[in-house]
Amino acid sequence: MSLEPKQMPVQYILGEWDFQGLSLKMAPPVFIPRPETEELVEWVLEEVTQRSHVVGAQGGPLILEVGCGSGAISLSLLSQLPQSRVIAVDKGEAAICLTHENAQRLQLQDRIRIMLLDVTLEGSWAHFVPWGPMDLVVSNPPYVFHQDMEQLAPEIRSYEDPAALDGGEEGMDVITHILALASWLLKDSGSIFLEVDPRHPELIGSWLQSRPDLSLDLVAVRRDFCGRPRFLHIQRSGPQHGCPTDAWPGPQPPRVPG
Ligand code: GLN
Repeated sequence: MSLEPKQMPVQYILGEWDFQGLSLKMAPPVFIPRPETEELVEWVLEEVTQRSHVVGAQGGPLILEVGCGSGAISLSLLSQLPQSRVIAVDKGEAAICLTHENAQRLQLQDRIRIMLLDVTLEGSWAHFVPWGPMDLVVSNPPYVFHQDMEQLAPEIRSYEDPAALDGGEEGMDVITHILALASWLLKDSGSIFLEVDPRHPELIGSWLQSRPDLSLDLVAVRRDFCGRPRFLHIQRSGPQHGCPTDAWPGPQPPRVPG
């Protein structure tokens, strides 16, 4: 065990940090947004602008963010897509409070609904029923392989909530739940954008092949600024399995075993 005092991350010392040109309040133990996640947001913005047909009934996309942390992804999408509406969920109370504070700080609170919710718990899908089908699901989930947690920088391990980082044995524990939920929530041709570990594109690709019932295809992988495959675009295929959009919501989403 190291006897050196752990330096608090600079973002927590300053109490605020920039993300996509927005100044966000930061407070331990809420996950500090990393620069690569800005690339995820840029990719989502590119896709939404290119596919302007990706719109909800009220004229802008309806977006779900799973694991909102400080609100960085949701609030930057809201600020750059003036017609969009966002539902932001997190299983941590501190994260929910901070997203609320940041939404107020940026005066974006009118188009965001923030909910304390753990998507890995059975029945969590029921909370989304009132919203109807979504255009997009975005997440930077906990994806660190459990055995890699020890290798994270000491200041991260001492101050950041491990629940925002630890994705279980293969880093997929939360990701598989997001995929099953998204398959049920998304409109036909709706999209999921995820930040993942560089080993995940292959793992998630084969997991999706083993779950044809989800009707999800891995359509693109993007590298981060370090050249590592880091971002996934997964799309829901068109109407099939006798489940047209007007039958939404179906009885309940497909289950993730375990
Ligand atoms: N990129 C983060 C890190 O390595 C992990 C982010 C996450 O699990 N969502 O610290």
